[in-house]
Amino acid sequence: MTVLDGKNTAAQIRAELKARTDAFRKKNGFAVGLAVVLVGNDPASQVYVRNKIKGCEEAGIRSFANYLPETASQKEVESLVRELAENPAIHGILVQLPLPKGLDAEAILAKIPAEKDVDGFCAQNIGALALGERATVACTPLGVMELLRRYGISVAGKRAVVVGRSNIVGKPMAMLLLNADATVTVCHSRTSNLKEECLRADILIAAVGRANLITADMVKEGAVVVDVGMNRVDGKLCGDVDYASVSQKASFLTPVPGGVGPMTIAMLLRNVCDAAERATEKKQ
Ligand code: NDP
Repeated sequence: MTVLDGKNTAAQIRAELKARTDAFRKKNGFAVGLAVVLVGNDPASQVYVRNKIKGCEEAGIRSFANYLPETASQKEVESLVRELAENPAIHGILVQLPLPKGLDAEAILAKIPAEKDVDGFCAQNIGALALGERATVACTPLGVMELLRRYGISVAGKRAVVVGRSNIVGKPMAMLLLNADATVTVCHSRTSNLKEECLRADILIAAVGRANLITADMVKEGAVVVDVGMNRVDGKLCGDVDYASVSQKASFLTPVPGGVGPMTIAMLLRNVCDAAERATEKKQ
């Protein structure tokens, strides 16, 4: 079994991006810029934002951190996002989710123009992905595809099963696999025969949020297994896949932590670079 090492792969990607951002700065006289908006004091969100800002530094991206208090109003958050949308030094805007209760996340995200939507969450980007057109794609599924690509795992013609159908992971994951010519099945909480569906997978992606949901008896011998899940059990981070047993059957497997998580941040940084290059190309 080969471990799909997201940590090292992401470090390699950040180094590659550094060369791109250096060239960008030389050519344009200013840096690639990402604005991060964090509202409130959610401890997990604070960690995610810190990691994203650290990733920016390593990749040569200028970060603009915007912290608003838990008590910020809808109007305040929306007007901040509008301001960032108009700032030409900012090429990508990330609003850290979840937002505090009482705020309408959808209305806030809708204020991010598609060309600065580096999370790939807006309808225009999701629509373009569904049509197989150039799109900014959600970072987590994009990270999964990049990890597979860098380990030389081909997708075309394979039977892929995605467990989870959220708008930010499962659905875009299924669309990317389909666009890459896999035969795709999407499972969810109402799937009646999850084990049988999973057993058919050459490539199995778990994106559920249930610790150890995927056990060895659900995995075909030699399958590629990617664990997107992030769960806390007794204070310890673990995925959706029972690593110890599944590693006896899988040919490739991602660890948690150190698998999809670092790849997600690396793809965010890549999406920001792409957005910056597109924005300056447009102006020339
Ligand atoms: P959501 O809660 O939005 O979606 C979970 C999906 O799993 C839903 O489609 C749900 O089905 C399905 N589901 C729930 N229970 C079962 C079950 N028993 N059997 C089959 N399917 C089930 O979660 P997200 O997509 O946002 O995230 C999924 C996991 O990935 C989480 O652990 C999250 O923390 C992690 N994550 C990790 C990231 C990373 O960078 N590594 C980034 C983003 C998320 P239904 O639609 O029917 O409710």
